[in-house]
Amino acid sequence: MGGVNSPSRSFKKMGLMAPLFISEARDAYLWDANGRQYIDYLAAFGPIILGHAHPKVTEAISFAAAKGPLYGAPHLAEATLGAMLQEAVPALDKVRFVNSGTEAVMTTVRLARAFTKRTKILKFAGCYHGHFDLALIEAGSGPATLGLASSAGLSEQLLAEVITIPFNDEQALEQVFRAEGEQLAAALIEPMVGNFGIVEPKSGFLAKLNKLAHQYGALVIYDEVISAFRFHYGAAQDLYQVQPDLTALGKIIGGGLPIGAYGGRADIMSLIAPEGPVYQAGTMAGNPLSMAAGIACLEELKQQRDKGYQQMANFATVLKTTLEEAADQKQLPLVVNQLKGAFSVHFTSGEVTNYAEAMQADDQLFNQFFKLLLKEGIYTAPSKYEAWFVSLAHTEEDIAKTALAIRKVLAQMSS
Ligand code: PLP
Repeated sequence: MGGVNSPSRSFKKMGLMAPLFISEARDAYLWDANGRQYIDYLAAFGPIILGHAHPKVTEAISFAAAKGPLYGAPHLAEATLGAMLQEAVPALDKVRFVNSGTEAVMTTVRLARAFTKRTKILKFAGCYHGHFDLALIEAGSGPATLGLASSAGLSEQLLAEVITIPFNDEQALEQVFRAEGEQLAAALIEPMVGNFGIVEPKSGFLAKLNKLAHQYGALVIYDEVISAFRFHYGAAQDLYQVQPDLTALGKIIGGGLPIGAYGGRADIMSLIAPEGPVYQAGTMAGNPLSMAAGIACLEELKQQRDKGYQQMANFATVLKTTLEEAADQKQLPLVVNQLKGAFSVHFTSGEVTNYAEAMQADDQLFNQFFKLLLKEGIYTAPSKYEAWFVSLAHTEEDIAKTALAIRKVLAQMSS
């Protein structure tokens, strides 16, 4: 199974069979089993926005562990974290915790189908929504890196229930609603894509999606598992001033521990059991450790919200500029898509606004780039579709060292 418990951790597609084994992580650094230190921009695929082993998060987890890691009954920290999410994401009339982003998105789909009494789901090519069956059709970063257009093991019937169109394509949106609008239960989308690079919606695209969906009686589900709390203290839906009917969350809200959450309109959420007939459950859901880590993480983010998010954005801009200048000098085709403290690196000469354009990026150049950076002690995701995440733990010195490494690496690369 490739030595990994999640395929996106594998280095196989990078031409290296074995991934690095990590023995410790602190601040912005990882140490491998040989004691070699790396500056980390993976952030564990998103959650680690404060940096690794942040003292406040670690303390909160220890404190919660000492009071018992699991009760199988409600407890106050669930309500506290729930209220923090509701305060930061106004579309969450009601919210429930689960254990992963996959579970969160999966449940919003079930809920949308129950509410609308329809089955078809519209999704957008390359957006990744976790590994439940329906989400694995044209599913972006992980499966794409491994060369799976989708997964084996999906039923034929399922393929007929999912319609996939390109992100940012208003014409396709209009066509699909004209043809299938009355059968659609929901449109499921990453409002700001993090899974075929960092790709923002074109102006008006999300508003159009909302308008068409509601005109045809379908719901809009935003998967904000990556985007919530990544760019500001809240969700991407505020940045673009649109409100979905349902939102799925994960990653950062758990401070590095397993978590997912979903929520939205009260009339839809009240269908969830035991209030309503839609079943969703979890032995570990809302467990005290994940709640404690999530509360500590969000408290810290909230405290640092003005300065902290700006600092991450400034650091990302330094790295983007360095990448562009160094690629220019070497005459390598390079596009860096940046949103505040996150960016993605595409070895292509065209713009990257959808999955097809992201796929055009050169694999061989990306693989060289990844391997050479690793040699220089810079840890990034082993996939041309994944983002770099700057964290609050990165220092000016880390950024300067990374910029040096980037210059060195790009100078060594050959097309
Ligand atoms: N949705 C998005 C946008 C994601 O990026 C991911 C994971 O990368 C998921 C859902 C699935 O989350 P998890 O891996 O916690 O199941």
